[in-house]
Amino acid sequence: MADKRMTGLHHVTAISGPPQANVDFFTKLMDQRLVKKTVNFDDPGTYHLYYGNQTADPGTILTFFPFEGVPRGRPGPGMASAYSYAVGDAVFGDVLAEMRARGAGVSGPEERFGQQVASVSDPDGATVELVATPGAHGPAEGGFHGVTLWQDDLAPTQALLVDRMGYEEVGSESGDGWERLRLKAPGDARGTVVDLFRRDGAPRGQQGTGTIHHVAFRAEDDADQLDWRERMLEAGMQVTPVIDRQYFNAIYFREPGGVLFEIATDPPGFTRDEPLESLGQSLKLPEQYEGIRDRIEAALPPITA
Ligand code: ZN
Repeated sequence: MADKRMTGLHHVTAISGPPQANVDFFTKLMDQRLVKKTVNFDDPGTYHLYYGNQTADPGTILTFFPFEGVPRGRPGPGMASAYSYAVGDAVFGDVLAEMRARGAGVSGPEERFGQQVASVSDPDGATVELVATPGAHGPAEGGFHGVTLWQDDLAPTQALLVDRMGYEEVGSESGDGWERLRLKAPGDARGTVVDLFRRDGAPRGQQGTGTIHHVAFRAEDDADQLDWRERMLEAGMQVTPVIDRQYFNAIYFREPGGVLFEIATDPPGFTRDEPLESLGQSLKLPEQYEGIRDRIEAALPPITA
């Protein structure tokens, strides 16, 4: 058993098509707050949009790189294939009815591990899952319930999560040619669930719009992150050095099944460069790009939230 335990998810990052449809879907239909409007630090001609709850807490943050003209991807083995939001069971039916009334393609709910799960398609065809959990919170305040990692072979990823990251096995479900193994981080933080999923004969996933780029777990501070880094190196992972992502520090590695994992620090958080009240309203750039702000703003398509 692992002697150090992960708290849960920090954020999930996905790839979308044109940004305005993405903003409309997540702020209007999914009730998210746009909490940061910045650029891809590795490609400043592209937005990096962050959605979350009102206070932009870790475990609620979904981010997108919106690319124009990039082909649609296909989820499959080696990729995170879905993320889910926790929605209070007291309002679950109302939330689904409201989404349907606003024209969203909602399917389900069906039962998974004793919980009601519904799926909504985002404008790029990606699956957004809604899981009924005790309470009366909407999807923004509920934050993440968890993620699904699609694998050819569940065992190596299971070993990393359980033996090295402190996840516990909750149960498994299977059907005709598929299986789903549920792991959970101990405690009651947001985003504690990781499902490992496998289906016979599925072709390898292809990154593109409508797919998840990586999933990020939480470190409470820089020291905690460095400790995780040592542990992941010991586990045989090829881990990047610490990278400054302005709102958190990040390390990345590919888990044995091929999914890109990140471990991100809670501090400094999204109020580092603008006050809580006006999060997400203006384009924020890291220091290295302020000198070319005019060119960056001219190249980015306008979006309204
Ligand atoms: Zn990330």
